Amino acid sequence: MAFIVNDVDISAAEPKELLFDKHVEYIANHGNDQNDFEYCMTEFLRMSGIYWGVTALDLMQQLEKLDRKSIVEFIKKCQCPTSGGVAACEGHDPHMLYTLSAVQILCIYDCLDQIDVAGVARYVASLQQPDGSFFGDKWGEVDTRFSFCAVAILTLINKLDVINVPKAVEFVMSCCNADGGFGSKPNAESHAGLIYCCVGFLSITNQLHRLDCEKLAWWLCERQLPSGGLNGRPEKLPDVCYSWWVLASLTIMGRLHWISSDKLKVFILSCQDTDTGGFSDRTGNLPDIFHTLFGLGALSLLGHDKLLKVNPTFCMPQYVLDKLKINTQIISV
Ligand SMILES: [Zn+2]
Repeated sequence: MAFIVNDVDISAAEPKELLFDKHVEYIANHGNDQNDFEYCMTEFLRMSGIYWGVTALDLMQQLEKLDRKSIVEFIKKCQCPTSGGVAACEGHDPHMLYTLSAVQILCIYDCLDQIDVAGVARYVASLQQPDGSFFGDKWGEVDTRFSFCAVAILTLINKLDVINVPKAVEFVMSCCNADGGFGSKPNAESHAGLIYCCVGFLSITNQLHRLDCEKLAWWLCERQLPSGGLNGRPEKLPDVCYSWWVLASLTIMGRLHWISSDKLKVFILSCQDTDTGGFSDRTGNLPDIFHTLFGLGALSLLGHDKLLKVNPTFCMPQYVLDKLKINTQIISV
């Protein structure tokens, strides 16, 4: 009996090389047209969109293609003077996700002092709950993604001591499942994106010894499909962003070599748009800025010679973390 595998056929897909210049152009022009349909539709995640573009261009050593001054001014306007949190764009409510994106951009631009850093720390601390978990914003949704955001933000601004770290670790470990993976809350299904958040969280807090690395790495390896692409959960289609979540987790656990790098590279390259530049989620689909960063990030983890080295925990260029003297725990086998 044959199993039916949900996968894509990339045998006829071009290109086989990185379309470097096309991607630079795609990202540099992204969001330039403020009347653009996509620009209007993505207002609610504008701050993260800028982080994806800034990071992608920095990995390609083309950061000067974006206007640093207007980006920093935009971030300043998005910080809420009362709570200290940062919103996706002016006039919206602050959220943990956009606060992390804003801090990441300012670290890349080496100008954290442009916002109220004490306010950011106060905002993150205010979202921690008695069980150690974090709300994403004042509306009170709990998710392990926000635990990752909290320790990532506070480490980047050097204020990790404003939260109860042991409690935060306890909560994340309560979301660990029997398959070695993690979900969004206790007893929630394992998912590669949340595994990345929890592994990243444990790498930042120096607690990687709590992982069952063998079991978890097996689960992650099983995400690779015959096309070479990776999915996020059993029976799902491959997707370029999972190349990042899975590969970064395996890298942190020192087990990148457990999957076929060559096949994954072919899959990621097949998701490039040969006309406009940019990467799509899977072969033949339309590109977007999110998948463009994670495609480039995964290629960097695989050692692509045209890209700067990316840090697997923070998804930022390694040189930025070196400059900030931030060391994240990585297992070497
Ligand atoms: Zn995706």
